[in-house]
Amino acid sequence: VPTFSAHDLHRFVQGVVVSAGSTAREASLVAVQLVGANLAGHDSHGVGMLPLYVENVLTGRLVVNHQPTVVRDSGAVVVFDGGRGFGAAVGQVAVDTAIERVAEHGLAMIGLRNSFHLGRIGHWGEQIAAAGHVAIHFVNVAGHPAIVAPYGGAEGRFVTNPICVAIPGSGAEPMAMLDMATSVIALGKARVAFEEGRPVAEGVLLDADGRVTTDPSGMFSHPRQGALVAMGDHKGSGLAMMCELLGAALIGGPTIQPGNERDDSIINNMLTIAIDPAAVGDAESFRREAQAFLDYAVTARLREGFDEILLPGQPEQRSRVARSAGIPVDDNTIALLAAAAESVGVPDLGAALMS
Ligand code: NAD
Repeated sequence: VPTFSAHDLHRFVQGVVVSAGSTAREASLVAVQLVGANLAGHDSHGVGMLPLYVENVLTGRLVVNHQPTVVRDSGAVVVFDGGRGFGAAVGQVAVDTAIERVAEHGLAMIGLRNSFHLGRIGHWGEQIAAAGHVAIHFVNVAGHPAIVAPYGGAEGRFVTNPICVAIPGSGAEPMAMLDMATSVIALGKARVAFEEGRPVAEGVLLDADGRVTTDPSGMFSHPRQGALVAMGDHKGSGLAMMCELLGAALIGGPTIQPGNERDDSIINNMLTIAIDPAAVGDAESFRREAQAFLDYAVTARLREGFDEILLPGQPEQRSRVARSAGIPVDDNTIALLAAAAESVGVPDLGAALMS
């Protein structure tokens, strides 16, 4: 698999997004977001998303250079409408506002409705944690076919609704950060298995009749047949529902119920809660106690088949170290990226990637 430097991928994404109509600043935010996901080891949210973004710009479902509008502002509570702008850009406004308001009030609750795809949610949690605050995000996915079945259901009723909680550390990296989809696996992972002709693991996918299957092909047939399964049975299914209720309905954004528009795009609604530990008690004793707990948790006697216990967020930190030497991008993705570059009139950028 060919590897690329973060710098080269950034330059490629930046060039394509500018050619699609974004300002240099917006394009740079998109590049940082996508390449950052690759660095964190989440290729499903990395540069491979760019062709879909470009396609949605060209069809008018993603609006370039959109400034989010303020729907409500009462100090600690702000609600924005993202107007289908680039998630990397409108999300940045929401998160910058969270950081500004939590510093002022000790607590901030920021709603962002109708953003185009917000990408890896940890990208947002990491920024709030780096500013010294706790971050909690509930996110739903709307505008998209429902592909995840609720517990007991034989068909999809929501999407992969992510949740993220970030705990500040002493430096720029969070002390711990849980950032996860509420489905057992992401659709992107099922797609990779499908393209490689491999079965998926048992218990993550249902067929058209709602039976457990390991064959991912139905998910990619037209019309789609089958559904992903929510993680943790009734518990993950319940969390996914809370993402609809808190991440969307509470802030006036669309849940995935069919009364709302579905145009096969990816709209995210996100509730962000930021907490300043110093507003709750003593920030230093919070840090010490949190660290003492985490140290204790990872020193449990190991289960058979395991050689270590990792904290949430550690796989991403390790990936960043490993991938600082180069980010692998498979040939299929490179071809799709080149086609995306060509579709906005910069085939030379794609050619450079392929050489
Ligand atoms: P994942 O399963 O790889 O990781 C989930 C969490 O578990 C992470 O916090 C990770 O650090 C931790 N983790 C992973 N392996 C671990 C181990 N062995 N021990 C301890 N902790 C471990 O992630 P996912 O659920 O596939 O989600 C991938 C990304 O997709 C996330 O960044 C999420 O925000 C993003 N996402 C975005 C959307 C959207 O609509 N924007 C939708 C779904 C998911």
